[in-house]
Amino acid sequence: MMKTVYTDALVIGGGLAGLRVALACKARGHEAIVLSLVPAKRSHSSAAQGGMQASLGNSVKGQGDGEDLHFQDTVKGSDWGCDQAVARMFTHVAPKAVREAANLGVPWSRVKAGPRKTVVNAEPVILQEPMAAHGLIQARDFGGTAKWRTCYTSDGTGHSVLYALDNQAIGAGIEIHERVEALRLIHDGERCHGAIVRDLISGELIAYLARTTTMATGGWGRLWAVSTNAVICEGTGAALALDAGVALGNPEAVQFHPTAIVPVGILTTEGCRGDGGILRDVDGHRFMPDYEPEKKELASRDVVSRRMTEHMRKGKGVPSQYGDHLWLDITILGREHIEKNLREVKEICENFLGIDPAEEWIPVRPTQHYSMGGVRTDPNGESDGLKGLFAVGEAACWDMHGFNRLGGNSLAETVVAGMIVGDKVADACECYAMGESTLARQHAAVVQAEIDALLSGDDGASVVALRQRMETLMMEKVGIFRNGAALAEAVEELTLLAQQSQRLKLSTSKRHANPELVDALRLRKMLKVALCIATAARERTESRGAHAREDFPERNDRDWLKRTLVRWPESQAALQVEYESLDVMAMEMPPGSRGYGKDLVIAHPHTAARLAEIAAWDQANPDATPKQRQQALLPAVFASLLPEHLRGDNVRREGQVPVPLKAEAAKLAGLISPNQNDETIEAEAAEVAGEQV
Ligand SMILES: Cc1cc2nc3c(=O)[nH]c(=O)nc-3n(C[C@H](O)[C@H](O)[C@H](O)COP(=O)(O)OP(=O)(O)OC[C@H]3O[C@@H](n4cnc5c(N)ncnc54)[C@H](O)[C@@H]3O)c2cc1C
Repeated sequence: MMKTVYTDALVIGGGLAGLRVALACKARGHEAIVLSLVPAKRSHSSAAQGGMQASLGNSVKGQGDGEDLHFQDTVKGSDWGCDQAVARMFTHVAPKAVREAANLGVPWSRVKAGPRKTVVNAEPVILQEPMAAHGLIQARDFGGTAKWRTCYTSDGTGHSVLYALDNQAIGAGIEIHERVEALRLIHDGERCHGAIVRDLISGELIAYLARTTTMATGGWGRLWAVSTNAVICEGTGAALALDAGVALGNPEAVQFHPTAIVPVGILTTEGCRGDGGILRDVDGHRFMPDYEPEKKELASRDVVSRRMTEHMRKGKGVPSQYGDHLWLDITILGREHIEKNLREVKEICENFLGIDPAEEWIPVRPTQHYSMGGVRTDPNGESDGLKGLFAVGEAACWDMHGFNRLGGNSLAETVVAGMIVGDKVADACECYAMGESTLARQHAAVVQAEIDALLSGDDGASVVALRQRMETLMMEKVGIFRNGAALAEAVEELTLLAQQSQRLKLSTSKRHANPELVDALRLRKMLKVALCIATAARERTESRGAHAREDFPERNDRDWLKRTLVRWPESQAALQVEYESLDVMAMEMPPGSRGYGKDLVIAHPHTAARLAEIAAWDQANPDATPKQRQQALLPAVFASLLPEHLRGDNVRREGQVPVPLKAEAAKLAGLISPNQNDETIEAEAAEVAGEQV
């Protein structure tokens, strides 16, 4: 007789996103259970180092910041691939999330009034922090942002926020079931009713029946041979959703982080460059200013990773037995700064490289890091395909990152989405009925049959060999630079591996704690997700954000301003790719240039019309406040999408500061020259910030 557990909100995943959803449900009086492969505090979120973006504008280099600038950076960073309504909700709630975290016990690094030494553009400078900011939450610089906006706790931000939320969950009486693995969603084709879950120690199958189910299973970095992700980031949650008929959004949008250490791929945070660290080549030359004279090492991540790869291809990499690499130099920051603000980085360098980064340069290379794509949801976080199934955090394509995520926007997303989507999940708990145990038994039987077949198979392929081949293929053919021929080869071979994975030979037939069985069950799911990624990448014949096609270098808004949706229900032999157009006429910020390298944009036919419409609105409403402008151009956010209790204005030390979105729009519309506008923006920002460097 199978054990059945009932709850209102089942949350699959005990990282930041899952815990925050569970807390939101519990706060509304619903029972919530969180499932995790590992103890929740060991979830991958704890590895996040650098920080979490929120436009608090406390420190001197953050003054003048606000949600408008954060929105602008996020949309540009996404290469216009994001859902702007979601990006708006996110940037509005991020300051609230950071302040809430402080109340929950996160020891944010704080502003200290007076002069402080730092490094900007490789030069030592003294910043003067105002007395009025003393004790407020500090922020550091990160790539692709107009202001220093990334709030941090030294370089252990994910760790401290995760511990705070997990402790809150324990305090709130939320049950966290650890060392269990969801293997299948319970559904009837229309609605999700929970999951069939395997206890990783006893091997027992348990049915969890729930009014709502939330996928918070994190990213899929471990499909690649080298990744900054924890070993449990295998993307199996995405396969569960696929099997049940739910679409993955933009699976081809995969981020490579510039500075993972060589050879193991452990990350050194973007905070290293944000705090002033620089990249050097085989000659010790600082090469990024040659490629990106304005943003240098702090260009968006996708851009820096490509520039590093280009530079190595020109023979400027440092040869090593593990292949070429470049150097990250943080020696210029000084020992005191490193030991205080980058202490995890120091320990990683000591333990995994045997070097002292205050004295020696760190060998780095761009490495797989983040999945912008995931289980496609609407702005409420509900999946495309099954009612009652939600997704949040890295597992989701909510979709605020489009084709490139800004550093610091992911931790912020986990908590912000946890707050917003958590509220919608709680609403759904009030409407949806509990599922039937008969349905649960039917789904459990499918899982049981798969396990039985695997344990009794006496002939077939090796799990390890297939997995290693998949990881190598993803590394070599679905990497930073992509091309049609390599992607086609990847799809072809992954298809073969997926076929071979249907007959696997296991060396032990134990039913309880059996890592080989666990790997076999995961392998099929991983191959399914890998095929979705490679196929979507092959089909997208343009370059956008982190998806860089050597054979199609243009960002082609005319044909490709659309979101990929890949479906592969288990009833179908092959996957299916569809597209969802992004409506330019509904964009608050119509497509423009990100300002990196040569502008290779093929314009969308509606862009000019939308720009003209916005310019006309601006002319007709010269005295409109930024908020009035925002609500006129993208009304849904405050009219219906954001939960009411999250709509309030964000309070800042200097009040609300007007930001140059209007000028940016005029520039895009061609009403003023780009240079004139850049000066306007800089002058305005400097005036507002009263920056003293
Ligand atoms: C090294 C590193 C540093 C980073 N630093 C930053 C940073 O400074 N700032 C930033 O914004 N972002 C950063 N990121 C990204 C960020 O950390 C992640 O995107 C984010 O923490 C993901 O949180 P999550 O809650 O969505 O998922 P996770 O924290 O990955 O949690 C996933 C959960 O799902 C569970 N799970 C998975 N599958 C199953 C299953 N089948 N059944 C049951 N449970 C399951 C796991 O056990 C885990 O509890 C970093 C990423 C890396 C790799």
